[in-house]
Amino acid sequence: MLNIFLNYIQKEAIRNFNMIVKGKIGLVMGMANEHSIAYGITKSLINNGAKVMFTAQSDRFVEKIKDMEEFKNSKIYRCDICDDGEIDDVFYSIKEEYNSIDFIVHSIAFSDKNELQGKYYNTSRNNFLNTMNISCYSLTKICQYASSIMPNGGSIVTLTYYGSEKTVPNYNVMGVAKAALESSVRYLANDLGDFNIRVNAVSAGPIKTLASSGVGEFSKVLEFEKNRSPLKRNITKEEVGNACTFLVSNLASDITGEILHVDCGCNTVGIKF
Ligand code: NAD
Repeated sequence: MLNIFLNYIQKEAIRNFNMIVKGKIGLVMGMANEHSIAYGITKSLINNGAKVMFTAQSDRFVEKIKDMEEFKNSKIYRCDICDDGEIDDVFYSIKEEYNSIDFIVHSIAFSDKNELQGKYYNTSRNNFLNTMNISCYSLTKICQYASSIMPNGGSIVTLTYYGSEKTVPNYNVMGVAKAALESSVRYLANDLGDFNIRVNAVSAGPIKTLASSGVGEFSKVLEFEKNRSPLKRNITKEEVGNACTFLVSNLASDITGEILHVDCGCNTVGIKF
């Protein structure tokens, strides 16, 4: 009996020791439901010892997160990323309540699904600007609060996709927005380095989510990438989560301005027979 108890204590001690973000607290922006990549990221952050709070786009999404048993102790703020007043309120409330946090995960994107099919050149001005605003500019907007909310330094992580580097059928204007987002990551990393705040992106392979199901023929993309990948499979949101946890942790203390591919190696393959 004593042996079992000692074994348990030892395992718990090792588990605690391995918790690479233990004691850190941060904000995850962009969880819509349990299929969201942000869900996998949050699970990994919590499993590795972090405390997490959320923003959600609307009251409907706030309620959805509140219903999730596993996050019942987490604070949730409503924040439409197009609304400067709501963004201001969120960061003001966080500053009031916690004074400082250690990380922000930006997992937000949107484009009209009618333009995530067919030819890119048909993109309307309105949807081009809206896609850029929500999927790209929002990261820059958030970074304007970074030095105040992370006075002791910190880590910001955003999500991107390979469609920024090469053309992918139907990804269209989202690919252009992701290219701008990746460039923003480098500029923001350079600016925020003054405050010891790191900015990185995870370039995730395709995963079926609310957002990705708006991209035309998405199931073909999943199949194509599975066949092309050196690991011969698709990735999971939990694996993206683990990479984000690493980037948030002190193990990544000298990594900034980086685009980390979490895609089973797909981006490295040119031709495959
Ligand atoms: P998702 O639909 O679960 O998440 C997208 C989130 O963006 C939602 O929570 C939505 O509410 C939020 N959002 C959209 N407009 C907003 C607004 N105006 N204000 C605030 N929030 C807003 O889908 P996901 O696939 O988990 O997407 C998360 C991120 O991952 C996105 O940046 C996406 O481009 C990126 N990504 C996804 C894949 C994939 O295959 N699913 C691959 C690589 C990168």
